[in-house]
Amino acid sequence: MKGKAGAPDPSLYLWWIGTETAADDLIEGVRGHVGRVFGMTTRVWHGRERPPHAFDPKRNQYSSTRILEWLLEAGPGTPHKILAMTDLDLFIPVLTFVFGEAQLGGRAAIVSTARLEAAPVPVRGGRLLAARVAKEAAHELGHAFGLVHCELMRCVMSRSSSLLEVDAKGGGLCHDCWTRYLDLRENPGGSHV
Ligand SMILES: [Zn+2]
Ligand SMILES: [Zn+2]
Repeated sequence: MKGKAGAPDPSLYLWWIGTETAADDLIEGVRGHVGRVFGMTTRVWHGRERPPHAFDPKRNQYSSTRILEWLLEAGPGTPHKILAMTDLDLFIPVLTFVFGEAQLGGRAAIVSTARLEAAPVPVRGGRLLAARVAKEAAHELGHAFGLVHCELMRCVMSRSSSLLEVDAKGGGLCHDCWTRYLDLRENPGGSHV
């Protein structure tokens, strides 16, 4: 868990890049959660820029992949990780929508509230939304740290493509994923997947 001598310690930054004003308690909730899950100091990045060129008029959605590329240029530099939070409806070409996306073993991740506060129950501003966003944020960050999907439902790295699956899964890493995470942090760029 310690940084190598001479190298700056990687930090984790949270950046709200939504259209509406950020809900402070939502961001604080996510910050606290991912900080605990990954045992890292987590700070808020207060950039006012917003991603250009991410909107796809044919789909009326935003390309999460393009936003991730932009985050690397606009956000905190290497070696820091950046988790963007947004209210934009995100997609990748092969899927109708995504809750979020991350670069596997990279620096950038994003999570959106757009589909997490959807029906059946309106949860805007509620604790259920906060719990969902915290889980998906931790999940995408896990990918950014190099973790792949986990078979265990209680593990936050289990795959979830519906709200039911998001609500059913746990918020933390299982023992195996935690061990793998520690290994990946000590040996970033190593072939440990
Ligand atoms: Zn995933
Ligand atoms: Zn796991």
